[in-house]
Amino acid sequence: PDPTLRPERLAEDTDRALRPQALEEFVGQAEARANLRVFIESARMRGEAMDHTLFHGPPGLGKTTLAQIMARELGVGFRMTSGPVLAKPGDLAAILTNLEPRDVLFIDEIHRLSPVVEEVLYPAMEDFALDLVIGEGPAARTVRIDLQPFTLVGATTRLGLLTTPLRDRFGIPTRLQFYTEAELDLIVGRGARLLGVQAEAAGTLEIARRARGTPRVAGRLLRRVVDFALVEGNGRLTKEIADSALTRLGVDHLGLDGADRRYLALLAENYGGGPVGVETIAAALSEARDAIEEVIEPYLLQQGLIQRTPRGRMLAAKAWRHLGLEAPKGPGQ
Ligand code: ADP
Repeated sequence: PDPTLRPERLAEDTDRALRPQALEEFVGQAEARANLRVFIESARMRGEAMDHTLFHGPPGLGKTTLAQIMARELGVGFRMTSGPVLAKPGDLAAILTNLEPRDVLFIDEIHRLSPVVEEVLYPAMEDFALDLVIGEGPAARTVRIDLQPFTLVGATTRLGLLTTPLRDRFGIPTRLQFYTEAELDLIVGRGARLLGVQAEAAGTLEIARRARGTPRVAGRLLRRVVDFALVEGNGRLTKEIADSALTRLGVDHLGLDGADRRYLALLAENYGGGPVGVETIAAALSEARDAIEEVIEPYLLQQGLIQRTPRGRMLAAKAWRHLGLEAPKGPGQ
């Protein structure tokens, strides 16, 4: 499948121009937004660092965007890093000691921090302090260094992989949800305006419907459809152009792409609808188990196409219909 249509972040991500800059501009996630507004306002009134915040949910739903917006609305600096990048405790210590008062430090993929680096975070989050070990052997001692108060914003696609001590240190855990069609329609419409493209309401809606509930996917589909509109149409984003472009890109009416359909077809054709263990699915599709659990399955579950049972994944009736196949009759179906 075309990686540029997947919800995962890519190094060459070009959607920066479409990123909302203020909480007001951020569409959707009404509950998270309302809470954040209160916490931001209260931190500003107190003149203190905002509480540590954890965003969790599938890729492309706006975790990084919200962290940047928090920093801007708090009027503080923004530093960004990620779990896999912080190889040694010293890497994190260097960042922490360079923070200005009340800065936001964003750690993406925080579930992938190594345990020794995570140890550094505990006193930093709790007491704004760094415990340095000086010397070796029996002469070794710990020196505590004070840090500026700061706000840690963690993001993870896998809440379950976070250790309990780390999880417990976040005052504000926030789950991000898939976006509704109407919300994505607003996002696509705004994107089209920013790109200077004339769009028909039915055209933006068609993209919204097929964006997998994910703003990052919506932004990418929009750019592709605009390409088709310019080259093969008269530049206007119409429903017909959107439909034909998305179909040619392999995005179907439910927004499923090649990887999603291969997943469903595997369960239907090779396993009679399941249950099948995730390891088996990963091996059969030659995909990483993480990618299956973090990217493919959340949307299929949300759409009611599959079910997770203790014995493995099962196709739901809607998936059989979507594949144009007859569900086998029998117990459980
Ligand atoms: P995550 O960190 O959860 O993977 P990002 O914050 O990087 O997701 O968002 C992916 C892209 O989707 C951003 O570049 C932004 O343009 C867009 N986006 C995310 N949330 C929204 C939103 N609520 N409104 C408009 N655009 C959004």
